[in-house]
Amino acid sequence: MANPYRAPLALVRLALNQAAEISGARSLPGYGEILSDLAEPILENASRFAGEVLSPLNPVGDRTPSRCETHGVVTPPGFVEAYSRFCADGWVSLAAPTEHGGQGLPTLISAAVTEMWGGANLSFAMCPELTLGALGALRVHAPNDLIETYADRITSGEWAAAMCLTEPQAGSDLSTVRTRAEPDGEAWRLYGRKIFITWGDHDLTDNIVHFVLARTSAAPPGVKGISLFLVPKKVPGVDGALTRNDIDAVSIEHKMGIRASPTCVMVLGEHGGARGWLVGNLHDGLGCMFTMMNHMRLGVGLHSLGLAERSLQLAREYARERLQGRNTSGAQRPIIEHADVRRMLLLMKSLTQAARGLAYTAAATLDVAHSAEDPTRRAGAMHRGDLLTPVVKAWCSDVGVEVASLGVQVHGGMGFVDDAEISQVYRDARIGPIFEGTNYIQAQDLVGRKIARDNGKALGELLAEIEKAARALTPDGANARQATGRSTNPAPGSPPQAMSAAAAHPLAYLQSGLLDGCTALRQAAAEIIERSAREPELIGATAYNFLQWLGILAGGWQLALSATRAGAELNANEARAVVDLAAFYGAHVLPRASVHEAVVRHGAEAVARVATTDL
Ligand SMILES: Cc1cc2nc3c(=O)[nH]c(=O)nc-3n(C[C@H](O)[C@H](O)[C@H](O)COP(=O)(O)OP(=O)(O)OC[C@H]3O[C@@H](n4cnc5c(N)ncnc54)[C@H](O)[C@@H]3O)c2cc1C
Repeated sequence: MANPYRAPLALVRLALNQAAEISGARSLPGYGEILSDLAEPILENASRFAGEVLSPLNPVGDRTPSRCETHGVVTPPGFVEAYSRFCADGWVSLAAPTEHGGQGLPTLISAAVTEMWGGANLSFAMCPELTLGALGALRVHAPNDLIETYADRITSGEWAAAMCLTEPQAGSDLSTVRTRAEPDGEAWRLYGRKIFITWGDHDLTDNIVHFVLARTSAAPPGVKGISLFLVPKKVPGVDGALTRNDIDAVSIEHKMGIRASPTCVMVLGEHGGARGWLVGNLHDGLGCMFTMMNHMRLGVGLHSLGLAERSLQLAREYARERLQGRNTSGAQRPIIEHADVRRMLLLMKSLTQAARGLAYTAAATLDVAHSAEDPTRRAGAMHRGDLLTPVVKAWCSDVGVEVASLGVQVHGGMGFVDDAEISQVYRDARIGPIFEGTNYIQAQDLVGRKIARDNGKALGELLAEIEKAARALTPDGANARQATGRSTNPAPGSPPQAMSAAAAHPLAYLQSGLLDGCTALRQAAAEIIERSAREPELIGATAYNFLQWLGILAGGWQLALSATRAGAELNANEARAVVDLAAFYGAHVLPRASVHEAVVRHGAEAVARVATTDL
């Protein structure tokens, strides 16, 4: 039996401090004090809760999934009690605003804790994540009476929330949403069917507040005709009594992973119409829903990172115990001594720490976007946050799947049997690239909207920061480029001279890879912006590779910063390990950027191949 989840607190701390620094969040009023005085006990308590309460329930949920009964969805044994403790200990309200009973802590601290919930028990973690996302949409878009009725109860976790977008014919393309809303006095009646609704029904809370996309009768076609409605499972009356609404879970999906998280088919309006209230302006529903979706996208990145961390923990523990092969004196060796197993573990660890740095940086950037006093600074941080969100969602969730897959590989055949927790982690991680907008949809958003809309300005600023961090790896950045003897990443079969020079300067590949990669990515972005107007398929054929390329560079940026900071923040052994990890990433991960670069740079060829090669 594997040990339960435990957060890697030294690495979490390093990434937290780094994110607070580079985002500028540390200079926000009170932020530095919160990080130095409050962060430590919160992280330790969260790690304990994740390890002692959520982690032991994770395999229980996999073997005894949520089920749909006639009276509603029943969660696996232990989930109701765990949720009640989770709320009582104040975990739901951690980053919620104080005016609604929340604790008002930075998004950055909440990000570190969110990683832990995802690593310990993804199924469970998604319920409070949805609740927090809904609170954001409610506060920003809803009228005051709705905020007064719902916000405090959502903040405390007394009532949960769910987001209802998807319908059988409306997946990535929400313009075809058919659920309809008809006026009913000051409110609305909704009719329709939603599928794949996470935590759409359950027994953790008395009430569930659904945020539903629907179309009104006079609405224009397409996404511009969609509105957002709040549809509670039970409608609160003026006396506080709850009356059952006309929205029901009629079945739940049987899934390859996150089996404890009920994925519901919801039917609205079978008995006269589900009562709903408009959130935001009529026909602006998708825009309003984006407040919740962006929160969830960051959440997917953080949860995926947590699963990557859990995979590493399981694989490392297994590799220390499993004996195979012999050393020179004939004694059996634990597999962790074999070079290729060490390669896999280091790949897992470096990808995980790179993803951690990136996701935390996005979270700290959002703190600046929401709390900086200077509006120009807020706007700049919002642009950076907008740019990073699809990268965090897509790149970190792909990292989650890759690291979990490596974790299975380290376990050999034992990783493939149902009883091994790593097999559950792998199955659970697979949802990350699919929901909250598939990873291609994220790539399209990144290139087609976030980069194109300001002609690559926010991207250019990010790349300049990556270059600055790369140059800081040595007193003279030019040294490292000479040391590798090349201006691009070493290709397989690089001359021995380049390899030995790099060995003398362990971070040389990281440095040259980042500098060359940023120059090339900047040029490629300019070219895509320039050509995409007349070549409509260009973004479709290259956006995925573009996002991966940026993700790899941004992950390297994080490890470069850590390598520079480690000496001041960690003990000598920990600091050496962080530098080694950065060097490993430079040699084993950064070279992947050149593959993505090649696809993006040969955009026209890529489009032609994609369009005409036989399937
Ligand atoms: C476990 C689970 C939980 C979920 N939870 C929720 C929830 O709580 N609320 C909710 O509303 N939904 C939820 N979903 C739905 C989820 O968001 C969708 O599954 C997802 O957005 C993809 O939509 P789809 O399944 O219809 O796939 P499709 O849209 O049919 O996509 C299939 C493939 O085609 C690609 N594709 C689609 N359109 C394009 C395009 N224009 N260009 C290029 N490629 C394209 C996609 O990238 C994908 O690879 C959940 C789904 C699952 C499986």
